[in-house]
Amino acid sequence: QKFEDAGLHPAMAKNIALAKYTVPTPIQKYCIPAIRAGHDLIAIAQTGSGKTAAYIVPILDKLMGKAKKLAAPRPDPTRYRPGIDPPMRAEPLVLIVCPSRELAIQIFNEARKFCYRSMLRPGIVYGGGPVPDQIASLQKGCDVLIGTAGRLCDFMKRPDVLTLRRLRFMVFDEADEWLHDDWATEFAQIMSGGEDGKIQYMFFSATFPKNLRDVAKEHLKTSHVRIR
Ligand code: AMP
Repeated sequence: QKFEDAGLHPAMAKNIALAKYTVPTPIQKYCIPAIRAGHDLIAIAQTGSGKTAAYIVPILDKLMGKAKKLAAPRPDPTRYRPGIDPPMRAEPLVLIVCPSRELAIQIFNEARKFCYRSMLRPGIVYGGGPVPDQIASLQKGCDVLIGTAGRLCDFMKRPDVLTLRRLRFMVFDEADEWLHDDWATEFAQIMSGGEDGKIQYMFFSATFPKNLRDVAKEHLKTSHVRIR
């Protein structure tokens, strides 16, 4: 099985060829059709297994045909009338949450490769980075947002900067790393930011601890588990 036989959107097929991916890895073989079919899922996958592309590729592929309709209208910054026009802010369609800045940057680079040839714009926020710069970049618009939990929650408290009300896909990467009690407040806040019925949820994790099973029971409509 090859990527070129998967029936992906032509822009995505070109991006994959440009990235020089020819054969999907095992986790990709499993996740790409499941995500395209609209399933929520939990995937057990290690770093190096190709897990980032396993969710980025099918999510962006699904959005490519529909981005114009779903994405927030982007005001022209040069003609922006403060107080009259709606706030310039990020209203992402995709949110990817991960535990560290390094992983966020890696995912962002992968997202950039696959957003190419589409009108989808990737963005990134993480703790330790400069707040004013990150706010400025969010206010320019962002369809695919990658971030660490703490900084995301800070920005969610500022509706002029970020809202999750348009969200269609939510991914928790290395979910086991941060999905314990210390992060219960952040997790609840992030989950409550989107409109539940509209969102496809995906959890990628190296292990499958009890708290992740509990989260799955509570939030996932259909769950697929793959041990690799
Ligand atoms: P990840 O597990 O997402 O951290 O990916 C590990 C590395 O494999 C990254 O450098 C990816 O760019 C690369 N990669 C992912 N999927 C494929 C594929 N199907 N073919 C070749 N390289 C891949």
